[in-house]
Amino acid sequence: MVATAPLDIPVIEPSSRVQEFLQSPRQILINGKWQSAASGKTFTVFNPASGGEIAQVAEGDAEDIAQAVAAARKVFDDPTHAWNNMTPSERGKLIWKIGDLILENLDELAELESLDNGKPMGVAQVADVPLSADLFHYMAGWTTKLEGNTIPISVPYAPGAKFHAFTMREPVGVVGQIIPWNFPLLMAAWKLGPVLATGNCVVLKPAEQTPLTALRLGEIIQEAGVPDGVVNIVTGMGETAGAALAAHDEVDKVAFTGSTEVGKMIVNAASGNLKKVTLELGGKSPNIIFKDTANLEATIAGAASAIFFNHGQCCCAGSRLYVEKDIFDDVVAGVSAAAESIKLGPGLAPDTEMGPLVSDEQLSRVTGYMNAGQEAGATCVAGGTRRGEQGYFVSPTVIKDAQDDMSIVREEIFGPVVVADPFDDIEEIIGRSNDSTYGLAAGIWTNDIGKAHRTAARLRAGTVWINCYNIFDAALPFGGYKQSGWGREMGHEVLDLYTETKAVCLGL
Ligand code: NAP
Ligand code: MG
Repeated sequence: MVATAPLDIPVIEPSSRVQEFLQSPRQILINGKWQSAASGKTFTVFNPASGGEIAQVAEGDAEDIAQAVAAARKVFDDPTHAWNNMTPSERGKLIWKIGDLILENLDELAELESLDNGKPMGVAQVADVPLSADLFHYMAGWTTKLEGNTIPISVPYAPGAKFHAFTMREPVGVVGQIIPWNFPLLMAAWKLGPVLATGNCVVLKPAEQTPLTALRLGEIIQEAGVPDGVVNIVTGMGETAGAALAAHDEVDKVAFTGSTEVGKMIVNAASGNLKKVTLELGGKSPNIIFKDTANLEATIAGAASAIFFNHGQCCCAGSRLYVEKDIFDDVVAGVSAAAESIKLGPGLAPDTEMGPLVSDEQLSRVTGYMNAGQEAGATCVAGGTRRGEQGYFVSPTVIKDAQDDMSIVREEIFGPVVVADPFDDIEEIIGRSNDSTYGLAAGIWTNDIGKAHRTAARLRAGTVWINCYNIFDAALPFGGYKQSGWGREMGHEVLDLYTETKAVCLGL
């Protein structure tokens, strides 16, 4: 059993602004109205730093999803509706305004995110919230650039005939979006930005652990002036609300971020009406350090941050650390020292560097892997314990002496646990890196630019970071090879996944 090491957890009261938001039960947004769940049920949202209740939230299910889809459908199918008649420039201005309003409410959103998810408020202030705003600002610019092509056609069976042929990009229709708890506001932004830029209507289901910032974003979207019914937000459980959304016959596309296991259920649920599906799923990303890396100190800091950022609750976390043999001991010692120096505490404490895991379920999952690794014979060099009796804290953990077939090497842990292993040569490490059902991200550290490019080209991953890690930008597409997903988020690539291409051919 994983031991528990003591941890003093200060109690920090949220600001009066946030307390006010949490006081009354938070409701579902359908057709521009905030309403209780049809069943009248609510569920409890917990503070992961204490395990205590922070809010009651409406527990929507199939009935609420049906109402929300009907509202979105009504807008989308009405050719006279303001949303469908807005110029691209007007739509862009609305989306830009959402970004501006997010920045105007930066501190409140960061505090709410920290309280709900557990991440340090300072991180939410510099990363989650500004990145969310930037995503809307980036997408606002695309509304005026969704162009088709004119296509010279030959039509061999109609000699002498002339045609004018072109393509148009049209919205897919009503989109269902289901998001996880690791970056609650940012995942909502990644999903809603392109949906609005391309003129679709949407029903969003946030994660049950972290619904609060998505609900606050719903208010911001209303304040920006997005017409009623375009964005509907239904909080609730995955097994009921999420499943109903993925299966709904009037939904044209479902976009999902979460576990590979649930991703497969989404694909099955979507088969009824063959709705379009995009998936952003799990990962077990290799982070490869060659002995010729330029600056060992910076590389060690990069490797530590690749796994410990967001408490390892990143789908792209650098959770398999491969180090060329000559420098293996130095890197493991350095990453372990970094792990031990991280200050754990509640997200709202100003000196906290790592908060709690998101839920008791994640706590059991992560400590379960710590156990499994040690029972299988691997060595814990740093961490390996739960911290404190309250909340869901674990120590940042570094493990070595694992075998490639162990569960801690093959499966996504989704916590601050890295498995480090040495390698001898480049062919070996490319093979081991690619020996995974996942293919989301990878890291390479070397001072040899040719080696860096040759290795990057051979890694089967949607993102490769060279001499850096966890670099995200609204302009940079993100998504997975293999069982890490279908399609891409962000960049202009995502716009293809929210539009249909219509070919129009005019006989002259
Ligand atoms: P999850 O179960 O896949 O949840 C993701 C979203 O899907 C949540 O909104 C969830 O609702 C919903 N959902 C669950 N079952 C569903 C169903 N049958 N039909 C439709 N929607 C459903 O992930 P999780 O429980 O939050 O975490 C489990 C694991 O997923 C993590 O440990 C990690 O391995 C992976 N994960 C990956 C990412 C990523 O960014 N790639 C993010 C988070 C988690 P509920 O909130 O009610 O469960
Ligand atoms: Mg779940």
